[in-house]
Amino acid sequence: MHKMTTAYFTHPDCRAHDMGAGHPECPQRLDAIEDRLLVSGLDIALTRMDPPLAKHSDLMLAHSEGYLLELQEFMQQAAETGEHRALDPDTMVCPATWQAALRAAGAAVAATDTVLDGKAENAFCAIRPPGHHATRSQTMGFCFFNNVAIAARHALDVRGLKRVAIVDFDVHHGNGTEDIIAGDERILMVSFFQDQLYPFSGGVPLGTNMVNLPIPAYTRGGEIRELIEANWMPRLDEFAPEMIFISAGFDAHREDEMGQLGLVEADYEWITRRLVDVAKRHCKGRIVSCLEGGYSLSSLARSVASHVRALADV
Ligand SMILES: [Zn+2]
Repeated sequence: MHKMTTAYFTHPDCRAHDMGAGHPECPQRLDAIEDRLLVSGLDIALTRMDPPLAKHSDLMLAHSEGYLLELQEFMQQAAETGEHRALDPDTMVCPATWQAALRAAGAAVAATDTVLDGKAENAFCAIRPPGHHATRSQTMGFCFFNNVAIAARHALDVRGLKRVAIVDFDVHHGNGTEDIIAGDERILMVSFFQDQLYPFSGGVPLGTNMVNLPIPAYTRGGEIRELIEANWMPRLDEFAPEMIFISAGFDAHREDEMGQLGLVEADYEWITRRLVDVAKRHCKGRIVSCLEGGYSLSSLARSVASHVRALADV
């Protein structure tokens, strides 16, 4: 039987975004991932694709017009002065940020089209800036555009799907995604995140279409797998999504100092294989996964390799 491939989207523009020396959301994250994919030989299992820049209409699927205008103006000023400017205490812009953010969102949308057009079974986007803290009208936590929310709405509003799922396994709660999609019953969002950690939200879900699992610090992978099995899987199967989007953050890794959860590479591989199973049962394997967090360069790269290995089923 012909085996469809995993598409891999990344772009040098995403590397050029730089929030200053010592910032954990750094360009080297993409270098580490790239190196690991080459060394592991996974590279040859992937179909590399060039993402376009997101269009204004793409961004409008998840953000307000006023926010986009304000952000563009702020970024143009940064480009003109050539300076780093802070939007909030965690989130800085440099002259290359606007292009990087457009490229990241554009990758998520193009990956969605690639999978829906049957050119690949699933896709991984090695992109930055990440997106899941960006709300409808606010930057937050290193995020500008909510790449996954934009892609999910693209699948619904532009491509005509009726139901899609968003899965978020970053160590931080995906508050931005929740802000954008809570109450949109065409989307089911399932997530876990470390309790009492930035952004200190998610304990009470904002809509019935959210399955939020706050998890105490120092919980290890075995327990998290049981929680996923008991809480995500029945809801995902009942919802029967036509496509699955993943906010793939790897900062719940034991070696990542941004959080205190205890996942290892084998846990990321297990989670991904369970999601591939759901996607095969309900939607021809359609998954689009987008990089979110993950700041220990070594564990980030190893975890992405495990995730991509499961997506590519090699
Ligand atoms: Zn995170």
